[in-house]
Amino acid sequence: MKCALVTGGSRGIGRAICIKLAALGYHVLINFKSNQTEAEQTLKFIQDKNGTGELLAFDVSDRRAITESLGGWMTRHPENTIEVLVNNAGIKEDVLMMWMKDEQWDSVMRTNLDSFFYVTRQVLTEMLMKRNGRIVNIVSLSGLKGLPGQTNYSAAKGGVIAATKALAQEVGRRGITVNAVAPGFIKTDMTENISEKEMKAIIPVNRFGTPEEVAHLVAFLVSPESGYITGEVISINGGMYS
Ligand code: NDP
Repeated sequence: MKCALVTGGSRGIGRAICIKLAALGYHVLINFKSNQTEAEQTLKFIQDKNGTGELLAFDVSDRRAITESLGGWMTRHPENTIEVLVNNAGIKEDVLMMWMKDEQWDSVMRTNLDSFFYVTRQVLTEMLMKRNGRIVNIVSLSGLKGLPGQTNYSAAKGGVIAATKALAQEVGRRGITVNAVAPGFIKTDMTENISEKEMKAIIPVNRFGTPEEVAHLVAFLVSPESGYITGEVISINGGMYS
Protein backbone atom coordinates (compact mmCIF):
# COMPACT_ATOMS: atom_id res chain seq x y z
CA MET A 1 0.00 0.00 0.00
CA LYS A 2 1.51 3.34 -0.97
CA CYS A 3 0.93 5.89 1.75
CA ALA A 4 0.98 9.68 1.97
CA LEU A 5 1.25 11.63 5.21
CA VAL A 6 -0.31 15.09 5.26
CA THR A 7 0.25 17.13 8.42
CA GLY A 8 -2.65 19.41 9.31
CA GLY A 9 -5.05 17.39 7.17
CA SER A 10 -8.14 18.17 9.20
CA ARG A 11 -8.91 21.53 7.61
CA GLY A 12 -8.16 24.01 4.84
CA ILE A 13 -5.31 23.36 2.43
CA GLY A 14 -4.30 20.12 4.18
CA ARG A 15 -7.79 18.67 3.78
CA ALA A 16 -7.84 19.44 0.04
CA ILE A 17 -4.40 17.79 -0.31
CA CYS A 18 -5.61 14.67 1.54
CA ILE A 19 -8.61 14.36 -0.77
CA LYS A 20 -6.50 14.89 -3.89
CA LEU A 21 -3.83 12.36 -2.89
CA ALA A 22 -6.48 9.78 -2.00
CA ALA A 23 -7.98 10.27 -5.47
CA LEU A 24 -4.53 9.49 -6.87
CA GLY A 25 -4.57 6.14 -5.06
CA TYR A 26 -2.63 6.91 -1.89
CA HIS A 27 -3.72 5.63 1.49
CA VAL A 28 -3.67 8.94 3.33
CA LEU A 29 -2.52 9.45 6.90
CA ILE A 30 -4.49 12.47 8.02
CA ASN A 31 -2.58 14.24 10.76
CA PHE A 32 -4.18 16.87 12.99
CA LYS A 33 -3.56 18.37 16.38
CA SER A 34 -6.87 18.50 18.22
CA ASN A 35 -9.78 18.85 15.80
CA GLN A 36 -10.85 15.22 15.55
CA THR A 37 -14.32 16.04 14.19
CA GLU A 38 -12.87 17.92 11.21
CA ALA A 39 -10.25 15.20 10.64
CA GLU A 40 -13.04 12.60 10.55
CA GLN A 41 -14.83 14.79 8.03
CA THR A 42 -11.73 14.74 5.80
CA LEU A 43 -11.66 10.94 6.05
CA LYS A 44 -15.36 10.79 5.18
CA PHE A 45 -14.81 12.90 2.04
CA ILE A 46 -12.05 10.44 1.04
CA GLN A 47 -14.14 7.35 1.71
CA ASP A 48 -17.15 8.80 -0.11
CA LYS A 49 -14.99 8.75 -3.23
CA ASN A 50 -13.84 5.17 -2.56
CA GLY A 51 -10.45 6.26 -1.27
CA THR A 52 -8.75 5.07 1.92
CA GLY A 53 -7.09 6.82 4.81
CA GLU A 54 -6.81 6.96 8.56
CA LEU A 55 -6.38 9.55 11.28
CA LEU A 56 -3.02 10.05 12.94
CA ALA A 57 -3.15 12.69 15.67
CA PHE A 58 0.03 14.31 16.91
CA ASP A 59 1.34 17.78 17.58
CA VAL A 60 3.93 18.48 14.87
CA SER A 61 5.81 20.78 17.23
CA ASP A 62 6.28 18.01 19.81
CA ARG A 63 9.28 15.83 19.05
CA ARG A 64 8.23 13.10 21.48
CA ALA A 65 4.67 12.95 20.18
CA ILE A 66 6.01 12.51 16.65
CA THR A 67 8.24 9.61 17.68
CA GLU A 68 5.43 7.96 19.61
CA SER A 69 2.57 8.46 17.16
CA LEU A 70 4.21 8.50 13.72
CA GLY A 71 7.16 6.32 14.71
CA GLY A 72 4.72 3.91 16.36
CA TRP A 73 2.59 3.75 13.21
CA MET A 74 5.67 2.99 11.10
CA THR A 75 6.74 0.20 13.45
CA ARG A 76 3.25 -1.32 13.37
CA HIS A 77 3.09 -1.17 9.55
CA PRO A 78 6.49 -2.33 8.28
CA GLU A 79 4.90 -3.43 5.00
CA ASN A 80 3.65 0.08 4.20
CA THR A 81 5.90 2.89 3.05
CA ILE A 82 5.22 6.58 3.36
CA GLU A 83 6.15 7.64 -0.16
CA VAL A 84 4.76 11.16 0.08
CA LEU A 85 5.14 13.61 2.94
CA VAL A 86 3.38 16.96 2.83
CA ASN A 87 4.50 19.23 5.66
CA ASN A 88 1.42 21.43 5.70
CA ALA A 89 0.47 22.05 9.35
CA GLY A 90 1.06 25.65 10.30
CA ILE A 91 -0.07 28.53 12.48
CA LYS A 92 0.37 32.26 12.52
CA GLU A 93 0.46 34.70 15.43
CA ASP A 94 0.61 38.12 13.81
CA VAL A 95 1.87 41.10 15.82
CA LEU A 96 4.41 43.82 15.19
CA MET A 97 7.83 42.74 16.43
CA MET A 98 8.08 45.45 19.09
CA TRP A 99 5.06 43.89 20.83
CA MET A 100 5.83 40.26 20.08
CA LYS A 101 6.02 38.00 23.13
CA ASP A 102 8.50 35.12 23.51
CA GLU A 103 5.65 32.64 23.31
CA GLN A 104 4.42 34.12 20.00
CA TRP A 105 7.86 33.74 18.49
CA ASP A 106 8.44 30.28 19.94
CA SER A 107 5.11 28.71 19.04
CA VAL A 108 5.29 29.88 15.42
CA MET A 109 8.87 28.66 15.05
CA ARG A 110 8.08 25.31 16.64
CA THR A 111 4.94 24.61 14.63
CA ASN A 112 6.13 25.88 11.25
CA LEU A 113 9.89 25.24 11.27
CA ASP A 114 10.89 22.69 13.93
CA SER A 115 8.05 20.46 12.73
CA PHE A 116 9.67 20.25 9.31
CA PHE A 117 12.80 18.80 10.88
CA TYR A 118 11.17 16.36 13.28
CA VAL A 119 8.49 14.98 10.95
CA THR A 120 10.74 14.76 7.89
CA ARG A 121 13.55 13.05 9.78
CA GLN A 122 11.09 10.45 11.02
CA VAL A 123 10.11 9.33 7.50
CA LEU A 124 13.33 10.09 5.64
CA THR A 125 15.35 6.96 6.49
CA GLU A 126 12.72 4.69 4.98
CA MET A 127 12.50 6.85 1.84
CA LEU A 128 16.29 6.68 1.52
CA MET A 129 16.26 2.91 1.88
CA LYS A 130 13.49 2.53 -0.70
CA ARG A 131 15.18 5.09 -2.98
CA ASN A 132 11.85 6.77 -3.56
CA GLY A 133 10.09 9.72 -2.01
CA ARG A 134 8.34 13.00 -2.49
CA ILE A 135 8.47 15.75 0.13
CA VAL A 136 6.43 18.91 -0.31
CA ASN A 137 6.63 21.73 2.21
CA ILE A 138 3.82 24.27 2.33
CA VAL A 139 5.51 27.60 2.97
CA SER A 140 4.19 31.08 2.19
CA LEU A 141 4.55 34.27 0.25
CA SER A 142 5.52 35.66 3.65
CA GLY A 143 8.62 33.44 3.71
CA LEU A 144 9.76 34.77 0.33
CA LYS A 145 8.91 38.43 0.58
CA GLY A 146 8.57 39.02 4.32
CA LEU A 147 5.41 40.68 5.58
CA PRO A 148 5.06 43.26 8.36
CA GLY A 149 3.46 41.84 11.48
CA GLN A 150 4.84 38.42 10.61
CA THR A 151 8.54 38.46 11.55
CA ASN A 152 8.01 35.14 13.34
CA TYR A 153 6.02 33.53 10.51
CA SER A 154 8.25 34.96 7.76
CA ALA A 155 11.35 33.68 9.56
CA ALA A 156 9.87 30.21 10.06
CA LYS A 157 8.67 29.86 6.46
CA GLY A 158 11.93 31.33 5.14
CA GLY A 159 13.76 28.73 7.22
CA VAL A 160 11.74 25.93 5.66
CA ILE A 161 12.51 27.31 2.19
CA ALA A 162 16.25 27.20 2.88
CA ALA A 163 15.98 23.72 4.40
CA THR A 164 14.04 22.56 1.33
CA LYS A 165 16.90 23.62 -0.93
CA ALA A 166 19.54 22.01 1.31
CA LEU A 167 17.72 18.70 1.78
CA ALA A 168 16.96 18.45 -1.94
CA GLN A 169 20.70 18.36 -2.58
CA GLU A 170 21.28 15.73 0.12
CA VAL A 171 18.73 13.21 -1.14
CA GLY A 172 18.43 13.79 -4.89
CA ARG A 173 20.63 10.80 -5.74
CA ARG A 174 18.28 8.52 -3.83
CA GLY A 175 15.22 9.32 -5.92
CA ILE A 176 13.72 11.73 -3.41
CA THR A 177 12.55 15.18 -4.40
CA VAL A 178 12.01 18.03 -1.94
CA ASN A 179 10.05 21.09 -3.01
CA ALA A 180 8.16 23.95 -1.43
CA VAL A 181 4.82 25.46 -2.40
CA ALA A 182 4.33 29.10 -1.46
CA PRO A 183 0.67 30.16 -1.40
CA GLY A 184 -0.53 33.75 -1.29
CA PHE A 185 -4.04 34.32 0.09
CA ILE A 186 -6.03 31.09 0.15
CA LYS A 187 -9.60 30.83 1.46
CA THR A 188 -9.30 28.87 4.75
CA ASP A 189 -9.83 29.39 8.48
CA MET A 190 -6.40 31.02 8.58
CA THR A 191 -7.54 33.88 6.35
CA GLU A 192 -11.14 34.17 7.57
CA ASN A 193 -10.42 37.55 9.21
CA ILE A 194 -8.83 39.02 6.09
CA SER A 195 -11.24 40.80 3.76
CA GLU A 196 -11.06 39.37 0.24
CA LYS A 197 -13.01 42.38 -0.97
CA GLU A 198 -10.30 44.76 0.26
CA MET A 199 -7.28 42.61 -0.57
CA LYS A 200 -8.22 41.53 -4.07
CA ALA A 201 -7.23 44.92 -5.45
CA ILE A 202 -3.56 43.95 -4.94
CA ILE A 203 -3.99 40.46 -6.42
CA PRO A 204 -3.65 40.46 -10.23
CA VAL A 205 -6.05 37.50 -10.56
CA ASN A 206 -8.46 39.56 -8.42
CA ARG A 207 -9.49 36.90 -5.90
CA PHE A 208 -8.23 34.60 -3.16
CA GLY A 209 -7.11 31.12 -4.19
CA THR A 210 -8.80 27.89 -3.16
CA PRO A 211 -7.34 24.97 -1.20
CA GLU A 212 -8.10 22.74 -4.21
CA GLU A 213 -5.84 24.87 -6.42
CA VAL A 214 -2.97 24.37 -3.98
CA ALA A 215 -3.72 20.63 -3.82
CA HIS A 216 -3.51 20.45 -7.60
CA LEU A 217 0.03 21.86 -7.50
CA VAL A 218 1.04 19.42 -4.77
CA ALA A 219 -0.33 16.54 -6.86
CA PHE A 220 1.78 17.71 -9.79
CA LEU A 221 4.93 17.77 -7.64
CA VAL A 222 4.40 14.29 -6.20
CA SER A 223 3.70 12.68 -9.58
CA PRO A 224 6.36 10.32 -10.97
CA GLU A 225 6.77 12.64 -13.98
CA SER A 226 8.00 15.45 -11.69
CA GLY A 227 11.16 13.58 -10.65
CA TYR A 228 13.45 16.20 -12.21
CA ILE A 229 11.94 19.08 -10.22
CA THR A 230 13.62 19.45 -6.84
CA GLY A 231 14.80 22.19 -4.50
CA GLU A 232 12.22 24.54 -6.00
CA VAL A 233 9.82 26.98 -4.40
CA ILE A 234 6.70 27.31 -6.52
CA SER A 235 4.44 30.27 -5.85
CA ILE A 236 0.66 30.04 -6.10
CA ASN A 237 -0.54 33.54 -5.35
CA GLY A 238 -2.61 34.88 -8.22
CA GLY A 239 0.35 36.83 -9.57
CA MET A 240 1.13 38.88 -6.47
CA TYR A 241 4.84 38.12 -6.18
CA SER A 242 7.32 35.36 -6.90
P1 NDP B 1 -5.85 26.23 8.71
O1 NDP B 1 -5.73 27.11 9.90
O2 NDP B 1 -7.11 26.21 7.92
O3 NDP B 1 -5.54 24.70 9.15
C1 NDP B 1 -4.41 24.44 9.89
C2 NDP B 1 -4.19 22.95 9.96
O4 NDP B 1 -2.95 22.70 10.64
C3 NDP B 1 -5.27 22.23 10.76
O5 NDP B 1 -5.48 20.96 10.19
C4 NDP B 1 -4.64 22.10 12.15
O6 NDP B 1 -5.11 20.99 12.91
C5 NDP B 1 -3.20 21.86 11.76
N1 NDP B 1 -2.26 22.19 12.83
C6 NDP B 1 -2.00 23.39 13.39
N2 NDP B 1 -1.07 23.26 14.35
C7 NDP B 1 -0.75 21.95 14.41
C8 NDP B 1 0.13 21.20 15.21
N3 NDP B 1 0.89 21.76 16.15
N4 NDP B 1 0.21 19.86 14.99
C9 NDP B 1 -0.54 19.25 14.04
N5 NDP B 1 -1.40 19.94 13.25
C10 NDP B 1 -1.52 21.26 13.45
O7 NDP B 1 -4.59 26.57 7.79
P2 NDP B 1 -4.42 26.62 6.19
O8 NDP B 1 -5.04 25.43 5.59
O9 NDP B 1 -4.79 27.96 5.74
O10 NDP B 1 -2.83 26.53 6.10
C11 NDP B 1 -2.14 25.34 5.77
C12 NDP B 1 -0.68 25.70 5.52
O11 NDP B 1 -0.60 26.64 4.45
C13 NDP B 1 0.02 26.35 6.72
O12 NDP B 1 1.35 25.90 6.80
C14 NDP B 1 -0.01 27.82 6.37
O13 NDP B 1 1.03 28.51 7.00
C15 NDP B 1 0.14 27.77 4.87
N6 NDP B 1 -0.33 28.95 4.17
C16 NDP B 1 -1.66 29.30 4.19
C17 NDP B 1 -2.09 30.41 3.51
C18 NDP B 1 -3.51 30.84 3.45
O14 NDP B 1 -3.79 31.90 2.87
N7 NDP B 1 -4.45 30.11 4.01
C19 NDP B 1 -1.14 31.26 2.79
C20 NDP B 1 0.23 30.80 2.81
C21 NDP B 1 0.59 29.69 3.49
P3 NDP B 1 -6.40 21.12 13.90
O15 NDP B 1 -7.61 21.13 12.99
O16 NDP B 1 -6.35 19.91 14.77
O17 NDP B 1 -6.25 22.41 14.63
